Amino acid sequence: MPIRVAIVGSGPSGFYTAEALAKSDTDCQIDIIERLPAPHGLIRYGVAPDHQTTKNVSRNFDKTAARDQVRFYGNVDVGRDISLDELRAMYDAVVIAIGSPEDNKLGIPGEDKQGVIGSAAFVGWYNGHPDFVDLDPDLDTANVCVIGNGNVAIDIARLLVKTRAELSPSDITNDALDAIEASSITDVYMLGRRGPVEAKFTNVELREMGKLEICVPQINGTLIPDAVPEELEMSDRDRRLRERNLATLRKFAPRAADELPKRVHFHFFAAPREILGGDRVEAIRMERTEVVDGRAVGTGEFFEIETSLVLPAVGYRSSGLEGLPFNDDWGVAISDDGRAGEGLYVVGWIKRGPTGVIGTNRPDGQEAAKQIIEDIPEGRKPGRAALDELLASKGVRVVDYTDWLTLDAHEQARAREGAPREKLITVAAMLGVLDSA
Ligand SMILES: Cc1cc2nc3c(=O)[nH]c(=O)nc-3n(C[C@H](O)[C@H](O)[C@H](O)COP(=O)(O)OP(=O)(O)OC[C@H]3O[C@@H](n4cnc5c(N)ncnc54)[C@H](O)[C@@H]3O)c2cc1C
Repeated sequence: MPIRVAIVGSGPSGFYTAEALAKSDTDCQIDIIERLPAPHGLIRYGVAPDHQTTKNVSRNFDKTAARDQVRFYGNVDVGRDISLDELRAMYDAVVIAIGSPEDNKLGIPGEDKQGVIGSAAFVGWYNGHPDFVDLDPDLDTANVCVIGNGNVAIDIARLLVKTRAELSPSDITNDALDAIEASSITDVYMLGRRGPVEAKFTNVELREMGKLEICVPQINGTLIPDAVPEELEMSDRDRRLRERNLATLRKFAPRAADELPKRVHFHFFAAPREILGGDRVEAIRMERTEVVDGRAVGTGEFFEIETSLVLPAVGYRSSGLEGLPFNDDWGVAISDDGRAGEGLYVVGWIKRGPTGVIGTNRPDGQEAAKQIIEDIPEGRKPGRAALDELLASKGVRVVDYTDWLTLDAHEQARAREGAPREKLITVAAMLGVLDSA
């Protein structure tokens, strides 16, 4: 009997696990269970819409999904439609690949005010994630504060200052495109607790900020050191990457604020201390910092930025899944290098936390496949026959991969001119298309 494996989550880590199992010499039957009708996790709903080349990696996942022993169960939520315990009873191995979909909190007073929107929600909104279609962010503000110095922060800043012409060839939703074009935004503040040396942007993303049609980057050149300090311990590769970022920032420094109508301000050494206002955000209070032993320490000097929109992009966490051993402080599963219980495995962000690029999830998938093959000499459980029966008894409308390809084609066919697709942004709309196909 084949080893019957259920993978919960169809983001990169789920698909890389499926790929590794399918390519192994072991007889496996692999079912990928995904809560949304659309697969690919953050490739579809996180990666910036104007970075289509990055999104193209999902084409490799299509090949995995097309393999005989792989089946996609979209629109099936583990926790709502079936419990983890039920799944473990049906499958020889269950791999949890559910990612880290929630925002870390800033942990400062006022962060629950209207107008503070975490990056998971904001990015989900412009990427057409069904959970965030109703977000309706109020972009009627001249200043926006994006908190964080990583690629997610820079993605958000870039999208907010791009023109319709720049955004149109992307797969940003029409609603988000209209809202950004109609916005009053002129100045985006990127606020980082530490300095330019510690910033986590990758250089390609940083350089893009210098090539925008109507927006000029602003940075106080005196804050950019001549080189990454020798005493900072890091790999040669890391040092080279940081040197490149410093060189890019140095090129930004002389650019005049009035060169173009909009600005992105790189404010380093600035930690958020309080969100000010009534029910709504009116300003953010920041404290200047200095970096001591790699940590940002407050200097006691404060300043405020007036804004009605604060977008924290300070990392992600998960709140787990019933039945999954979980470390609530860290927001990740508890596992022994991926083994989380008998026949239970974790991969990707739920295993490692929210770090790394898409490809970082590949070794996770390979490791989980290896562990499953080592731990389970032969399949004993019914797998998909039992799953099909349970889902049918509950009347769950399963979206299979052929259905997804129908949705994919539908989205491509209705794209605005030059764009790769116009996403269907509600589950009802997706199911509606399938029902009428
Ligand atoms: C805003 C943003 C931009 C990024 N941009 C880039 C980039 O440009 N380049 C790059 O290399 N990396 C980028 N990354 C990182 C990359 O997206 C991640 O490394 C990767 O997606 C993590 O994969 P994962 O499978 O662990 O999680 P995810 O991609 O989050 O996939 C998890 C999947 O599980 C599903 N799921 C969750 N709960 C359940 C449940 N209960 N039942 C069933 N299914 C469930 C979710 O719907 C989702 O499809 C970005 C990340 C973010 C947040």
